[in-house]
Amino acid sequence: MSDVCVIGSGFSGSTVAHRLALGGSRVTILETGIDHRQPIPERCQVRYSNVGPIRYMFRDVSFRCIGGTSEHWYGNTPRPHPNDLQTRSAHGVSEDWPLTYEELEPHLEEAERVLGVAGADDEPHHAPRRVPFPLPAWPLSHSDRLIRDGLAGSGIPVLSTPQARTTLPYRGRPRCLNLGRCNTCPINARTGATSTSLRWALETGRVELVSEATVVRLESDEQGRITEAIWVDPQGQSHRQRADLFILAAHVPDSVRLLLHSTSPRWPTGIGNGEDMVGRCFMDHGRHNANAVIEERTWPNRLYFQTAAIHHWADAPDRADRGAYLIEILNYIGVAGPGSFTRGTDLWGLPLKRHIRESWGHNIQFHCGVEMLPDPVNRITLDPDEVDAHGIPIARFDVRFDDYALAGYASAAASMDQIFEILDARDVVHRPMRAGQLVSIYHPAGGLRMGRDPATSVTDPWGQIHGVPNLFVAGTGLFPTIGTVNPTLTMIALALRTSERIESLASQGDL
Ligand SMILES: Cc1cc2nc3c(=O)[nH]c(=O)nc-3n(C[C@H](O)[C@H](O)[C@H](O)COP(=O)(O)OP(=O)(O)OC[C@H]3O[C@@H](n4cnc5c(N)ncnc54)[C@H](O)[C@@H]3O)c2cc1C
Ligand code: SF4
Repeated sequence: MSDVCVIGSGFSGSTVAHRLALGGSRVTILETGIDHRQPIPERCQVRYSNVGPIRYMFRDVSFRCIGGTSEHWYGNTPRPHPNDLQTRSAHGVSEDWPLTYEELEPHLEEAERVLGVAGADDEPHHAPRRVPFPLPAWPLSHSDRLIRDGLAGSGIPVLSTPQARTTLPYRGRPRCLNLGRCNTCPINARTGATSTSLRWALETGRVELVSEATVVRLESDEQGRITEAIWVDPQGQSHRQRADLFILAAHVPDSVRLLLHSTSPRWPTGIGNGEDMVGRCFMDHGRHNANAVIEERTWPNRLYFQTAAIHHWADAPDRADRGAYLIEILNYIGVAGPGSFTRGTDLWGLPLKRHIRESWGHNIQFHCGVEMLPDPVNRITLDPDEVDAHGIPIARFDVRFDDYALAGYASAAASMDQIFEILDARDVVHRPMRAGQLVSIYHPAGGLRMGRDPATSVTDPWGQIHGVPNLFVAGTGLFPTIGTVNPTLTMIALALRTSERIESLASQGDL
């Protein structure tokens, strides 16, 4: 028996575990994965299916390992634009979050300190801030500066990207050596849960991490309170974890699956699903890349991560009519590697080498993710036919684009063309998603949305599942709308806010 059982050891679960342990709680974290440096076992591979008019490509979007997806993320950590939380009030579209940017701001500040975010304090176009970033910004790369200078006078600013990647030693982690590829950082300069919240949680001595523990079901009593989490080990042996309080932090699809799978006489269609809202209003940022060649040499691939972005269309006046978007400037060429510049030429030998050097070495590339609306028809359900290695039905996505998102993609393509034209770029190549697909930029959100009205949300404004006093959600599933920026900083801020709420309820005896 623990005071608290946390399901999932990524940033969201570890953040809550650490905070509650600091307050004196004894916490057990149940994590299905193993050490992130080991190959992911077959039973932890993500499997999913699609039933909607477009295929949601969930491959590589979340990782089941100790520390979760944080061990593979890119570390871009811009704050949300204040209107991302208030699209109804500001633009008359979609809906407002049950909290404002001002209410979230203290938690954003704390989240930046947890992650050790490196950012520029003096850029007026970013979200407002009251305190400096914990670390000095990454300097703009050579190609960022070329693009910034080329756009000077156009009214389209190039902003530096806040990064959860150290520019100086920070809280026991060394500064980034800029060695290049960083899908997993060998020295923990790129922040992950295992080098921050999870490590700090374990250091309190009040947190136990049980790895290879896959939660297959939550049991509830007649009043709807969660009594225990049933988990299985790799040998298929079943175990029970009792606790006073449960935190569901298994990332969007697995958290949804667990709730829908946990049926009982009190919850015949799954825990918290009395209004059929669990899994609905699922969202993600679909990807549109474009690249082109400019006169100057850009020296691509000297940095793996991003140091600048264009937020000009992230909260533009026409946001009521089309999805907003952020244009990230890539320092690596990614999908447009040197090989792609051999296509369409009949050159060979030295002339081909010269051609590659001249085109690839002068390349710039943009990476764009577009906002979609929270539509209840876009949902995750349980696949009726297929189960995973533990016998839980796999996630089935039912997703479509509405006119708002499609107008956003069209606008994003036009904006990138506008930039290329200002820069006098040539050989423009757009790489949109294939028709009938949603290729994610790894930001699944919604499905467990927070709100005041139980008829249209799954949790209250602090993440407590409606009708279940001792079950809270942590993660991007809570997002009522997806906004445009990368979601993880906001997600950690919400997890800190949830922890504060739990402590306050506990101190009043209301849990
Ligand atoms: C390649 C990539 C790049 C990204 N880059 C960025 C970026 O630059 N900026 C940004 O803001 N975001 C980025 N993201 C998104 C970001 O990584 C996620 O938003 C964030 O890590 C989610 O954290 P989480 O704790 O909610 O979920 P996760 O980190 O996925 O943790 C969930 C944990 O739950 C465990 N689990 C699942 N089911 C069970 C079960 N039944 N029982 C027990 N445990 C279970 C999983 O193993 C996992 O460890 C990126 C994602 C990817 C894949
Ligand atoms: S460049 Fe190297 S040191 Fe820096 S974050 Fe990436 S892997 Fe880590």
